Amino acid sequence: MLEKKCRARLRLECQRGAGRALAQPDWYRKIGDLGPDNIAPAQDQCGIGEAPARDCSSGQHTGIGSDRSTAPPAGINRLGRVGYATLCALRSLSHGDSERFAKSWNMPVLRGRQGPRVEALLAWYDVHRRVLPWRAQAGMRADPYHVWLSEIMLQQTTVQAVDRYYRTFLSRWPTVEQLAAASLDDVLAAWAGLGYYARARNLHRTAKIVAGQMAGRFPETAAGLRALPGIGPYTAGAIAAIAFDEPQAAVDANAERVIARLFYVKTPLPAAKAELRARTQALVPQRRAGDFAQAVMDLGALICTPKAPQCPRCPWQEACIGRVRGLVETLPRKAPKPDRPLKRGVAFVVVDAKGAVLLQRRAEKGLLGGMMQPPLGPWGADFPAEYDAMTQAPFAATWIKRPGLVRHQFTHFELEIEVYVAKLTRRPRIQGRWVQAHALAEAALPTVMRKILVHGLGTTTFAPA
Ligand code: SF4
Repeated sequence: MLEKKCRARLRLECQRGAGRALAQPDWYRKIGDLGPDNIAPAQDQCGIGEAPARDCSSGQHTGIGSDRSTAPPAGINRLGRVGYATLCALRSLSHGDSERFAKSWNMPVLRGRQGPRVEALLAWYDVHRRVLPWRAQAGMRADPYHVWLSEIMLQQTTVQAVDRYYRTFLSRWPTVEQLAAASLDDVLAAWAGLGYYARARNLHRTAKIVAGQMAGRFPETAAGLRALPGIGPYTAGAIAAIAFDEPQAAVDANAERVIARLFYVKTPLPAAKAELRARTQALVPQRRAGDFAQAVMDLGALICTPKAPQCPRCPWQEACIGRVRGLVETLPRKAPKPDRPLKRGVAFVVVDAKGAVLLQRRAEKGLLGGMMQPPLGPWGADFPAEYDAMTQAPFAATWIKRPGLVRHQFTHFELEIEVYVAKLTRRPRIQGRWVQAHALAEAALPTVMRKILVHGLGTTTFAPA
């Protein structure tokens, strides 16, 4: 079946491709890195550029890509690299299929100059690399603490969002030992707003392990790094490559986009992740693995952008199957996201006579684990009626419902919250922490809880109304 499929495709491709080679030899040289010598024999072919192979019949063979032939048909032999380059570069046979096909006909397997050249990418990177606060200068060894900190922060987040947080962390805790000595509360507060708060808790746990059990030295291999809390396969590969030059693939969203386009990977994400990782790993050089990892990321961030990629400036343009096929902006494909359910509930903002606000800590495990919040009711399909809401309040008081509501989007659901406010002359006996309004900005409050407090306090800042 494979051979039949290959040959049927080859028939079509050789006819189309060779026809174009005659009309536009420069184009052909570009896509296949071929010179005039490679193209010249093709011009002698019978039927090239004409209707499907009808003029190529000779003897037993019916022409280019005969289904009955076991040796390369005469047309293919004479087409040589041109026809095969067309096959490889233009159409959807995978590299594996193409290689098996080529071997079955004793044709050269086109690698190297046909594929993406690592040296070309590294040369581009040497000139165009981004300057990032956690990145070592060219030729300098990266600090594993800086690399680890940035890679944990960059999970699910953009470089722009991370920049401020990274600088804050590094100025407060310049070494892993200092981060380990910090309180979890301080770490969570410094992380507030960056989201995915389990990362902050794992960051702190890892800092304690590295500082306490590893004498402040991070493991130098991806396998060793994976044993630490909060370090999955991607992060381990990225840290090992960037900090220790271990030949590991680092496939972030930018790299996924580049590799999906480069190899025309049609499988939608996230199912394509394993293939994209394997294809990236196959490209990783033994030397400058860290630069390679960062170069692919930078290529995705600067050139191979989600919209309007600048292919003419790309060091891999000649090898890029997605570009040749004109389907760049359709890649990578993504599986449709399931609808996010809507959850609703109520929150209670309590202000004492001195303007301090009551906060409570969330459970360690689960959503926003360990972060602070105003008292909340349970979340369900609808808002509770006002009477029911009062039964969810932390204590009896004169609760005033604020007009409007707070909306927030989590990854897997949307949340709407109605906010009730009580102003007290005396603090009730209740578990929690009273935080002065001016200190709320420093509290470990995730974004949704800040929104609730701002709404409840009737202000755009944390100053009380
Ligand atoms: S040629 Fe275009 S699509 Fe292909 S890797 Fe380069 S920028 Fe991306």
